[in-house]
Amino acid sequence: MKVLKFGGTSVGSPARMKNLLDIINPTERQIVVLSAVSGTTNSLVEIGQAYLTGDKQKTITLIKLLKDKYELFIKELFTDDEFLKQGKEVIDYHFSVLSNLANDLFTTIEDKIILAQGELLSTTLYHVYLKQIGVPSVLLPALDFMKIDEDNEPVVDHITEKLTPLLDKYPQVNLFITQGFICRNAFGEVDNLRRGGSDYTASLIGAGIRSEEVQIWTDIDGMHNNDPRIVKGTQPIAQLSFDEAAELAYFGAKILHPQSVFPAQKYKIPVRLLNTMDPQAKGTLITNTSEKDKIKSIAAKDGITAIKIQSSRMLLAHGFLRKVFEVFERYKTSIDMITTSEVAVSLTIDDTTYLGDITTELNAFGSVELDVNHTIICVVGDFGAEKHGYAARVLEAVKHIPLRMISYGGSDHNLSLLVKTEDKIETLRSLHNRLF
Ligand code: ASP
Ligand code: MG
Repeated sequence: MKVLKFGGTSVGSPARMKNLLDIINPTERQIVVLSAVSGTTNSLVEIGQAYLTGDKQKTITLIKLLKDKYELFIKELFTDDEFLKQGKEVIDYHFSVLSNLANDLFTTIEDKIILAQGELLSTTLYHVYLKQIGVPSVLLPALDFMKIDEDNEPVVDHITEKLTPLLDKYPQVNLFITQGFICRNAFGEVDNLRRGGSDYTASLIGAGIRSEEVQIWTDIDGMHNNDPRIVKGTQPIAQLSFDEAAELAYFGAKILHPQSVFPAQKYKIPVRLLNTMDPQAKGTLITNTSEKDKIKSIAAKDGITAIKIQSSRMLLAHGFLRKVFEVFERYKTSIDMITTSEVAVSLTIDDTTYLGDITTELNAFGSVELDVNHTIICVVGDFGAEKHGYAARVLEAVKHIPLRMISYGGSDHNLSLLVKTEDKIETLRSLHNRLF
């Protein structure tokens, strides 16, 4: 059984929603995971913020604006009055949930209920649409089987246990529709898998039911070998290993939620990245195997801050790095890149929420210097320690660009450079021209 996930733009208009059946084959048994209609989750975030600030008028206005969009949406989706009426009931219900939260009792619990309405709306409307055109389908509530634990980690065994009987209940049905992104947490409350989490849902379901394949349908034909918004002539990458895909997803390739690689990798479920606008395009296939000895792709991650801690006294002492890392752990701030010398260590973070506190604590170990507005450029491919020439080719390509940090050898498929964000475009273009 395959799992097919469609992102926000793939369900972004009534016409797009109708076109999904060009891709979904209702004669094959499959699970279809849908995101919220594009733009909806952003609007829901704003509604949550309006509630939080207690701005009643703004809350009402924002809810009305979004509801107006859905009123238009259903008018185009449902040509039959009976189904238009059902569609209207669906949106009335979900918008009454949005409207009836109390300002004074507003907490993160209510906020997450708000965020969940986007996927609930898109899937329920699509389910009604399938009824209108006479295609049998079952709507599976993700809140009945998708769960995260106390550490916000999804529980694959729970998915297997809860989802399998749901599927078995309908042996004659081929098409199952469910919500991406949303789940329940350890307390049974409505929660979510973070922004962009619908990919993660698809991969988790794939793992939970040991699916033959997970397909992620977006609006670009697979992962490209560089950022197509910046570099001309980028190419889709036909084949990636899970490790390579994880590095790329984490370091900037927006097409895939970084964590979604891991459940698929663990249960060896192939993941295909495909393009709704060009369903015949080959896209990218992610599996356990990698094309050997090759540079695959370049990605960039902005908003990076580099922190240098210099201490001739301390650095060689054992336990020094542990103390440094403990500071970051205390502030739940993850480190992306690290480089060390005999007298200093540099590392990078992207979440600067606690930078002030972190700097204060690090000052106890030595002098601390910060460099903001940096970008990690990540070159991904198969070039393990036994290969030679890769680092030289990369460095040759950027010899005219000042490099703040270089990280190589952490894994067999990543060489990362830290550059000023103002040098990012030139770095990406120069690498592209010289490596591909
Ligand atoms: N709708 C959610 C978001 O916009 C989840 C997703 O689309 O993947 O982040
Ligand atoms: Mg996405």
